[in-house]
Amino acid sequence: MLFGRDKKNPIKIADKGVVEWKYATCGYCSTGCSIEVGIDRKGKAVASRGVADADVNRGKLCIKGIFEHELFESAGRGTTPLMREHRWDAFTPVSWDAALDRTASEIQRIQTAYGRDAFSIVSTGQIMTEEFYTLGKLARGVIGTNNYDGNTTLCMSSAVSGYKRSFGSDGPPGCYDDFEHTDCLLAFGSNLPEQHPVIFWRLRDTLERRRFPIIVVDPRVTMFAQMADVHLPIEPGTDVVLLNALAHVILDEGLADKSYIDAFTDGFDDFRALVAQYDPQTASRICGIDEDTIRNVARTYAKAGAAMTIWTMGINQSTHGSDGVVGINNLNLITGNIGKPGGSSLSITGQCNAMGTREWSSCSGLPGYRALEKPQDRDEIARFWGVDPAFFPDKRGMFMTDILPAIETGQIRGLWLVATNPMTSMPNTARIRKTLEKLEFLVVQDAYRDVETNEYAHVYLPAALWAEKEGCMTNTERRVNLIRKVSEPPGDAKADLWIFNQLASRFTRADGMEFPDQAEQVFDEIRQLSRGRMLDYSGMSYDKIEQHRGLQWPCSDGPSEWAGGDSGDGTRRLYADGRFAFPDGKARLIALPFVDNNERPDEEYPFWFNSGRVVEHFHTRTRTGKVGNQNKFSPTPYMEMNPDAAQELGIRHGEYARVVSRRGDAVVMVQTTQRVPNDMVFVPFHFHDCVNRLTLGLLDPHSRQPAFKQCAARIEPIADQAAAAVRNKAARAY
Ligand code: SF4
Repeated sequence: MLFGRDKKNPIKIADKGVVEWKYATCGYCSTGCSIEVGIDRKGKAVASRGVADADVNRGKLCIKGIFEHELFESAGRGTTPLMREHRWDAFTPVSWDAALDRTASEIQRIQTAYGRDAFSIVSTGQIMTEEFYTLGKLARGVIGTNNYDGNTTLCMSSAVSGYKRSFGSDGPPGCYDDFEHTDCLLAFGSNLPEQHPVIFWRLRDTLERRRFPIIVVDPRVTMFAQMADVHLPIEPGTDVVLLNALAHVILDEGLADKSYIDAFTDGFDDFRALVAQYDPQTASRICGIDEDTIRNVARTYAKAGAAMTIWTMGINQSTHGSDGVVGINNLNLITGNIGKPGGSSLSITGQCNAMGTREWSSCSGLPGYRALEKPQDRDEIARFWGVDPAFFPDKRGMFMTDILPAIETGQIRGLWLVATNPMTSMPNTARIRKTLEKLEFLVVQDAYRDVETNEYAHVYLPAALWAEKEGCMTNTERRVNLIRKVSEPPGDAKADLWIFNQLASRFTRADGMEFPDQAEQVFDEIRQLSRGRMLDYSGMSYDKIEQHRGLQWPCSDGPSEWAGGDSGDGTRRLYADGRFAFPDGKARLIALPFVDNNERPDEEYPFWFNSGRVVEHFHTRTRTGKVGNQNKFSPTPYMEMNPDAAQELGIRHGEYARVVSRRGDAVVMVQTTQRVPNDMVFVPFHFHDCVNRLTLGLLDPHSRQPAFKQCAARIEPIADQAAAAVRNKAARAY
C-alpha cells in the first residue's frame, strides 16, 4: 500500500530530444537571466532552461523565460515586407528593395518639404545594443532628425533623469549582490514577485539565510507588500512627501551620516531648509501614512548598517517621477548609502535592454552617455563617425510623449516606429488613434505584423526577434550579457541591424562613414568609444561575456578611475569612493517641494484608477499573447475592486463592470479583493483597448514620463452580463 508522497505521480520531464544547448539572455524583462535554448536533431528550438552558473539567475527562470523558445514559432510574425498607398488600403507583399526605397524616399520628401525634424523616429528597449548604436548613428549622423526617442520614456526616463540630477550621470549604482549585504530594504512602487520574479527569488534566498526588515511602499497590498515587515499604503502620487518626511526625521533626530554629507555632497543647506517643512504630522495628512510609522521607518532605515532602496513604475510613472527618484537618492546620500555593499539606490528597470538604449542609442544625445550640449562630446563622435559636428543638433529634441502630440499640430509629418506599439502602450488610446491617422507616412518595423499600431502603417518591415540574431543587452545591474543566434528568422524577416544598414545605404553619407554588418564589429566600435568612460566596455569581448555569464561595466582593458583600479572582470558598484559624475565630483542634495498636480478622484469619478503587470505577460502582449501557457494562466484583463465598494454598487465577484474615465471606458471582469482599498481599482496594463482607453498620462516635467498610475474613474454595473462576456471575448481574441 502506498502512502502520502509515494502515492503521487512523480513529475516527469518530457525528453524533447535536445542535442545542443545554445547560450542567450532572456529577452523579456531587465533581470537579465542567462538562458540556454535546446535544439533538437532537426535544428528546431524545443526547450529553454536557466544557466546554473550564471550569477544573475543561478539556474532559475520565470514562466516567461521557461517558454521563450516558443516565440520562434509564434503566430502573427511578419515574414515579408508589406506596403500600401493609404492606410485604408490592403497591404501588398513587396520586396525589401521596394519597401526600403519607399521608406527612404518618404523620409527625404518629408524632410525636404517640412524640415529635417519633421520626420521622427521612436524605438524601443527590446533590440540589441549594437542595433541601438547603429540606429543612433543613422538617426544622428545620416538622417539628421532631432525628434528621435525610445519607448523607454514610458518606463525608465524618470530614473534616468533622477540619476542625472543627483549623481551627474545615468547608471544604477548598485547590484543584486547588495541583497546579500543590506540590513534594510525599502521598496517603492515595486511588485517584485510579479514584475521581476527572479530578482525576488534572489532576495528571498538571502532572507532565508539572514533576516532584515523589508518595507514596501505601495497603495495596493501587492504580493510583495504581503510578505513585507512593514507595508505603507501610500496615497497615490505622494511619494515625494513621504521621502521628505523620512529625511526630516533623520535630520531632526541626528541620524544622518554627517561626515558623508560633508565630504561627498552639495546643496545640504537648501535641502535641510525644505525638509524642515515636512514634519511627519503635516506629511501624514498628505501621504496617508501615520506619523509614528513615518518615524519608525526613518529610524529603521537610518540606523541600519547598510540600507538600500529599490523601485519601479510606482515611482517612475508619476508627474513627480523624477523628483521621486531624486528623493530616494537624497535619502541614501544623507544616510551614506551609495556605493557600499548593501547600500544603494537601485532602479529595477523594465525592458530587457532598456539600459542598452540609455547607454548607446543616442536618443537623449550621443552614444556612451555623451551630450549634444558638450562640444568635446560632439567632436569625439563626429570624428569617430566621420561626420561634421555641425550636423548634430545643439540639444536633444522631443521625447516620445511630445512627439505624438506634435503630430497633431502638424509639426511632425512622418514617423518610423521600431519594436514599439503606442496604440496599446500610450495613454489615451482614442487620442493616439487620431494622431496616427494624421501621419503622411508611418513605417512600422516589428517582429509581429499583427501589432496593433501596424493598422496605421504605410510600410511594414518584418524584423527578427530575440535570439534570431546575435548581440548584447545590459540588465538592471549594468551587466552586459550576450545573445547567440539560436534560430533563423521566419520567411524573409531580417535582423534590425541589417534593416538599419540597408536604409543607411539609401542616404547620402559623409565619405568614409561606415555601417559594419556584423554585430561583433559594431560591438568593437562601442568598446572603443567607451574606453576610459564610466560605462567602459573596453575589457569585454563576446567570448569573455559568455564565459562570465555577463560582465558589469565599468569593465576596462586597463586601470579604470571609475572602478577604482583594475576592472577586467567588471565592477559591482559605482561611486564606491564617493566621487560622482559632476565636474566637482560631488553628488547633489536637491530640495523637492511637492506640488499636487494629478487628476484626483471626485464626486463624479470617485475611484483612483491604478494599473500594473501580471507575471505571465510582458508589456503589450505582442509576444506573450502568442504563447499558450501565458494565455492559459492569464487570458483576459480583470479589475481588482474592494468587496465593500463592489457591494455598494451591486457588483459581484466574477461579473463584468464598466470602468469610465474622462477619456473613455472599458469593460472588465471584477475580482473582489482586499488588495485594493475602498477608493481604488486596479487593472493589468497589458491588454489592448483596455487600461489606456482610460489613462490621462500627465507628464513629469523633467523626464516627460506619463503618470500612468494616477487618474480618476467611476465604475458602472452592467445589466446584460452575457452580452458583456461575448464582447469581451471578441475584443481579446487574437
Ligand atoms: Fe526573463 Fe525576467 Fe523572467 Fe528572468 S525574470 S526569465 S529575465 S522575464
